[in-house]
Amino acid sequence: MFRFALRGTIEYLESGKFSALDFLTHAFCTRIGGISRQPYDGLNVGDLVRDRKEDFLQNLEMVKDSFLIPAGRLILMKQIHGDRINFIEKGDPLPEEPPECDGLITDRPGVALGIRTADCVPLLFVDRIRRVIGAAHAGWRGTALGIAAQMVAIFKDRFSSRPEDIWVGVGPAIGSCCYEVDAPVRAVFSAMPDAGLFARPSPKQDRWMLDLSLANRLQMLAAGIPGENIQAVAHCTACRQDLFFSHRGSGGCTGRQISLIMLHGEEERKNA
Ligand SMILES: [Zn+2]
Repeated sequence: MFRFALRGTIEYLESGKFSALDFLTHAFCTRIGGISRQPYDGLNVGDLVRDRKEDFLQNLEMVKDSFLIPAGRLILMKQIHGDRINFIEKGDPLPEEPPECDGLITDRPGVALGIRTADCVPLLFVDRIRRVIGAAHAGWRGTALGIAAQMVAIFKDRFSSRPEDIWVGVGPAIGSCCYEVDAPVRAVFSAMPDAGLFARPSPKQDRWMLDLSLANRLQMLAAGIPGENIQAVAHCTACRQDLFFSHRGSGGCTGRQISLIMLHGEEERKNA
């Protein structure tokens, strides 16, 4: 189950499962809060849209303040709709610019991983036993490349995670009610055995309705994650533009919402 919560002016969704872990901060932020003006109102964190730079930078500061993220420790990505996944190891210098990738994994406390979306699926991961976290961005290209399954594979290979210990939050994304795709996009998924479940024919000829959230869920189930460990937000970003930015729903002129995850820790204090 997800529930709405408020920090300062920021309204966000939190997973009931994740919230039970006392070593974790996480949030799927809505667009509510922040200072950006229309059509980016209000908590836009996208730097590639035509919002005023000072506004989205101030929004990011508001996010860091609200979720108690130490200075310089919110790591965003230069998302490129690929399947590259980067690590942040303990002791590594933190990237000064967002790394070019669509997935980040760390076991380092006090470092927040953030994803920016407006219809694509934000995925947050936690191994609740080994205390490893991950964040990934899955649009149709990333989903077709299997980025969710690759995240699980890295948790297993690199951190010896057991699938039953990994919990996943599937954030607000465009729903199958609104996400119509054409034959070339549908064809990318045709090799997947369960594509018929998440790509259903639209009433229009040569069009399909894609359920990205379900496609990612199926991928993670196939990777061994138990179904009860995967919680998905039910809201469609295009249907609920009062709550979320939607690229498709807005005709391409809108902001980006942020989803974030961070392990709590003593690292800052020890290094001080
Ligand atoms: Zn919809």
